[in-house]
Amino acid sequence: MEEKRKQNRIDCSVAKICGGCEYAGIEYGKQLALKSKWVKDLLASACEVKPIIGAADPCFYRNKVHWAYGFDGRRTLAGRYAENSHRIVENDACVLEDTTCAAIQMSIRKLQTTFKIQAYDEKTKRGLLRRVLIRKGMATEEVMVVLVVSSPVFPGKKAFMKKLLELHPCIKTILLNVNTRTDSMILGAKTINEYGRGFIWDEILGVRFKISPESFYQINHAQTERLYSLAIEAADLESGQKILDAYCGIGTIGLCAAASCEQIALTGVELNRTAVADARENAKANHMEKARFIAADATEYMVEAAARGEHYDTVLLDPPRSGTTESFICACEKLAPNRIVYVSCDPTTLARDLKCFKQHGYQPKYAIPVDMFPYTKHVETVALLSRTEK
Ligand code: SAH
Repeated sequence: MEEKRKQNRIDCSVAKICGGCEYAGIEYGKQLALKSKWVKDLLASACEVKPIIGAADPCFYRNKVHWAYGFDGRRTLAGRYAENSHRIVENDACVLEDTTCAAIQMSIRKLQTTFKIQAYDEKTKRGLLRRVLIRKGMATEEVMVVLVVSSPVFPGKKAFMKKLLELHPCIKTILLNVNTRTDSMILGAKTINEYGRGFIWDEILGVRFKISPESFYQINHAQTERLYSLAIEAADLESGQKILDAYCGIGTIGLCAAASCEQIALTGVELNRTAVADARENAKANHMEKARFIAADATEYMVEAAARGEHYDTVLLDPPRSGTTESFICACEKLAPNRIVYVSCDPTTLARDLKCFKQHGYQPKYAIPVDMFPYTKHVETVALLSRTEK
């Protein structure tokens, strides 16, 4: 494995059945060339596509590691779900995962046997332990462990957790999530805080963020800092400006942007209420008095803000893979920001949306692909658009 890694290729014995890294057998430089070509093919007719930003270390980047537990009638299975399925692939070492998170997963697997904690059987609906979710703040080194269980009744819970904490003092919080659902959702509705604060802190570009079990948080910390730095550079902020961060999650891009310049009035819009609550706390934790966060559909918010005659100097947007909507883009034209910074996780929908923006008075200036997910086919892109003079 190490030898292959040095060649920037990973030779994982379960790559084919796991499906977590489509580019496992491809040398890293070649992966970057493939992603760069993909973005160029889609965007070069719209604007300049700058060289792709590769990762300094393409391995061990995943700060969130999720294992599933199952029982096949004879023995416990523990590992990752194969892509788009509930088939558990057993494999101790994954070269994409942070090594601390992976080591904690392995300890929990051993403790599960020692403490005779029954793994959950999806067929019979018997057993306790369903999943284990581990998240690490890469800047703070704080770790969160979420034990997803079928019932809050967990015999031997205290002794199990005590042992786990002895083995891994970096664990700052342990939560029990009770999931009785039969669909593929990882977490159930009820979360019980068993140890610590119930969340962890991390830092991006020196700004502190609170991460709860359910929060969306970028999984590659080093590349996130580069991606956000490029977005902030593109925004070219000036003191006192009003900026909008649409699809803001827990407020990461907007708060990092606001921290980079004085007196920025930030509005963040996000559909997920838990993320909005986190974003508000993040603003407080970083003493950003001029930041507000709104729980709403981004398009609906834009349309209403345009109807109220609001203005923003810069609009940042970071929608999910499906991209944004034509109504969002129409409303953007009315809000008349000078710049739009589009952070995209799918170049196909980005190409579609850039065309639409162009029809609504915004010229794409450049796009920069950033490799947030080495060894997978995915690529992130930052694009800058500016208002065309009428
Ligand atoms: N900018 C954040 C989150 C990006 S992921 C970051 O970098 O961490 C996209 C976010 O869009 C998710 O938080 C998701 O909950 C949110 N989202 C999805 N559909 C939405 C909609 N229609 N309106 C507002 N937010 C939405």
